[in-house]
Amino acid sequence: MNCVKPCPECGQNNLYSAIAIARGGYGPDLLPGLSGFFTSANFQVVACADCGLTRFFAAEDAIKKLPTANSWRRL
Ligand SMILES: [Zn+2]
Repeated sequence: MNCVKPCPECGQNNLYSAIAIARGGYGPDLLPGLSGFFTSANFQVVACADCGLTRFFAAEDAIKKLPTANSWRRL
Protein backbone atom coordinates (compact mmCIF):
# COMPACT_ATOMS: atom_id res chain seq x y z
CA MET A 1 0.00 0.00 0.00
CA ASN A 2 3.03 2.29 -0.24
CA CYS A 3 2.55 3.47 -3.82
CA VAL A 4 -1.02 4.74 -3.99
CA LYS A 5 -0.05 8.15 -5.37
CA PRO A 6 -0.54 9.34 -7.98
CA CYS A 7 -3.90 8.00 -9.18
CA PRO A 8 -3.16 5.43 -11.93
CA GLU A 9 -6.18 6.61 -13.93
CA CYS A 10 -5.81 10.40 -14.06
CA GLY A 11 -2.35 11.02 -12.57
CA GLN A 12 -3.60 13.41 -9.87
CA ASN A 13 -2.87 13.29 -6.12
CA ASN A 14 -6.30 14.26 -4.79
CA LEU A 15 -6.81 10.93 -2.98
CA TYR A 16 -8.78 9.94 0.13
CA SER A 17 -8.58 6.79 2.20
CA ALA A 18 -10.84 4.90 4.62
CA ILE A 19 -10.98 1.46 6.27
CA ALA A 20 -13.82 -0.86 5.21
CA ILE A 21 -14.79 -4.27 6.59
CA ALA A 22 -14.65 -6.99 3.94
CA ARG A 23 -17.44 -9.10 5.45
CA GLY A 24 -20.68 -7.13 5.85
CA GLY A 25 -23.70 -8.36 7.81
CA TYR A 26 -25.79 -9.29 4.74
CA GLY A 27 -23.31 -8.86 1.94
CA PRO A 28 -20.80 -11.31 0.55
CA ASP A 29 -17.43 -11.94 2.16
CA LEU A 30 -15.15 -10.06 -0.21
CA LEU A 31 -11.99 -11.63 1.26
CA PRO A 32 -13.16 -15.23 1.79
CA GLY A 33 -11.07 -17.26 4.18
CA LEU A 34 -8.88 -14.34 5.21
CA SER A 35 -10.71 -13.15 8.33
CA GLY A 36 -9.70 -14.11 11.83
CA PHE A 37 -11.90 -16.17 14.15
CA PHE A 38 -13.33 -13.11 15.91
CA THR A 39 -12.43 -10.37 13.46
CA SER A 40 -13.26 -9.60 9.84
CA ALA A 41 -10.59 -8.87 7.28
CA ASN A 42 -10.36 -5.22 6.32
CA PHE A 43 -9.66 -3.20 3.23
CA GLN A 44 -7.99 0.13 2.97
CA VAL A 45 -10.07 1.92 0.35
CA VAL A 46 -8.43 4.68 -1.70
CA ALA A 47 -10.69 6.92 -3.81
CA CYS A 48 -9.62 9.63 -6.22
CA ALA A 49 -11.57 12.87 -5.79
CA ASP A 50 -10.81 13.91 -9.37
CA CYS A 51 -11.80 10.88 -11.48
CA GLY A 52 -13.56 8.62 -8.96
CA LEU A 53 -11.32 5.60 -9.39
CA THR A 54 -11.64 3.55 -6.20
CA ARG A 55 -9.13 0.90 -5.18
CA PHE A 56 -9.31 -1.70 -2.44
CA PHE A 57 -6.17 -2.95 -0.67
CA ALA A 58 -6.42 -5.97 1.64
CA ALA A 59 -4.92 -5.39 5.10
CA GLU A 60 -1.52 -6.89 5.87
CA ASP A 61 -2.88 -9.65 8.14
CA ALA A 62 -5.24 -10.78 5.34
CA ILE A 63 -2.49 -10.71 2.72
CA LYS A 64 -0.34 -13.02 4.83
CA LYS A 65 -3.06 -15.71 4.71
CA LEU A 66 -3.37 -15.77 0.91
CA PRO A 67 -0.77 -18.51 0.19
CA THR A 68 -2.51 -21.03 2.48
CA ALA A 69 -6.18 -19.99 2.15
CA ASN A 70 -8.36 -22.59 0.40
CA SER A 71 -10.52 -20.00 -1.39
CA TRP A 72 -7.63 -18.41 -3.24
CA ARG A 73 -5.47 -19.67 -6.07
CA ARG A 74 -2.31 -18.05 -7.35
CA LEU A 75 -2.60 -16.64 -10.89
ZN1 LIG B 1 -7.94 9.83 -10.54
